[in-house]
Amino acid sequence: MAKRNLQARGPVDGGTRSHSGLRIDGARLLGRLDELSKIGADPAGGITRLGLSDQENVAMAYLRDLCAEAGLKTETDPAGNLLVHRPRTRRDAAPVLLVGSHVDTVVQGGWLDGAYGVIAALEVLQVLHEHDVDLPVEVVAVAFANEEGALIQTPFWGSRALCGSLEDGLAAEDRTGRPVSEYLVQAGGSPEHLADAAWTPGSIAAYLELHIEQGPTLERLGLPIGVVDGIVGRTILDIDVVGEAQHAGTTPMPDRRDAMVAAAGIVLAAERVVTEHAVCATATTGYLEAHPNVTNTITGNVRMSVEVRDTDPANLVRGEAAVREECSRVAAASGCDVDVRASMRSQAVSTAPELRDAIRGAADALGLPHLTMPSGAGHDAQIVALVAPIGMIFVPSKRGISHAPGEDTAPDDLVHGANVLLHSVLGAQAPVAAWL
Ligand SMILES: [Zn+2]
Repeated sequence: MAKRNLQARGPVDGGTRSHSGLRIDGARLLGRLDELSKIGADPAGGITRLGLSDQENVAMAYLRDLCAEAGLKTETDPAGNLLVHRPRTRRDAAPVLLVGSHVDTVVQGGWLDGAYGVIAALEVLQVLHEHDVDLPVEVVAVAFANEEGALIQTPFWGSRALCGSLEDGLAAEDRTGRPVSEYLVQAGGSPEHLADAAWTPGSIAAYLELHIEQGPTLERLGLPIGVVDGIVGRTILDIDVVGEAQHAGTTPMPDRRDAMVAAAGIVLAAERVVTEHAVCATATTGYLEAHPNVTNTITGNVRMSVEVRDTDPANLVRGEAAVREECSRVAAASGCDVDVRASMRSQAVSTAPELRDAIRGAADALGLPHLTMPSGAGHDAQIVALVAPIGMIFVPSKRGISHAPGEDTAPDDLVHGANVLLHSVLGAQAPVAAWL
C-alpha cells in the first residue's frame, strides 16, 4: 500500500467514530439485486446461473460495469474470481480486509443466495470510496466463481483457488466431460496460471461475508441479524446395502433378505440419531437408489447416502459413529450386507470472536437486535477460514426457503444487513489492524 499522509486527509480514527452516520444506499442496493436477478432467470422458475457458465460470466460483466461507473477498479483472477478495490490502492499491496460472496446459483435457485453478499460488498466499497474514508486495513470486495459447483462439480472453486486449497483443479469437468479449462477461458480466467490465483499467506487480514440465513430461525424469532459463530462441518457416508432379489409373491417373509427394508431401517435410524439421541445437529438421507427397482421383485440392493452435520468436530465424529453403529445393527437384523464408507468430510470452522464483536457492535449501533447462531449451510467463508479469521452476518430468509425459486428476504432486512456489513467493516478495523 502506498504511503499516505494521513494528516492531510482530515479526521483519522480508523473509521470507528466520525463515520457512525454513514449508510449504504438502500435503493441502489435493491435496484442492483433486482437487475442481477434477471441474469440467468429460468423460464421454469428461479435463477439458473451456474458457476463458470455463460450466465455467471454475464453476471460478472454486469458487476464490472457497476464498478466502472462507481470509479472502482476490477480484476478477474486466473480462477475467474472478480476482485474489486478502490483506485487509491493496489489490491495486492498489503494485507486487506476481504468482503464478498458468490454470484452463481444452483439449478432453479434463488435470487439472493450469494448475490446479496456480493452486491452488498460492492455497495460498502462504493460508500467508502464516495466518502473517501481512510481505513487502516483496506477493503477488497470479491465475487467468488463457482461456489455451488452445480455445473463444474468443484464447489468453492473460486475461494479454494484464492486460498491455495484447489488441488487438482484442472481435472474438473462438467457432466458431459467438457474440461473446466474451456469454461475458465470463457470466464476470463487462465488455466495455465490457475495456481497464481492463490494469494500469498498473510495477505488476507480477515474476511467478512454477508449472506441470507437459508433457514427459518431468524424469521421465527423476529430478529433482523444473525451473528454466525461457526459453520457446520459435514461428513457424507455412502452406504451399499446388499440383500437378495427374489420373487415378491413366492418368497416367504422369514426367508427374505430385503435390501429395501434394511435401507428403510437405516433411514429411520439415522433420523433417530438426532431426534432421539441428539448426537449431532442434523442427519439426512438425501439419496437412495434401489435395484432392480421393480414392483414385483424384492429389492436386491440399495445405494444410499447419509450425511451428518455439526459445528462441533467431536459431535460430527460421534454422529458418523452412531450412523455406522445403526448400519451394523440393521445388517445383523436383516441378514443384508451393509457397507459404509465416508466419501466426503468438510471441517467445521469457527468465526473470530473479535469479528463477532464487531458485527454485534455494528448491529447494536444501528438499533438492530441480533442472535448468535451457527450456519447449517456451507459458505466460501469456511474455505477462507483455513487461511484467515472470518466473520459472517445473516439476514432472515422468508419461511426459511433457499436454493429454490421462493427464496426471499424483506427489503428492509436486506438494507439492514448491508448497513451492518458496512459498520462491521469499520468496527473490525481496530482488531484486524492489531493482528497485522
Ligand atoms: Zn451461498
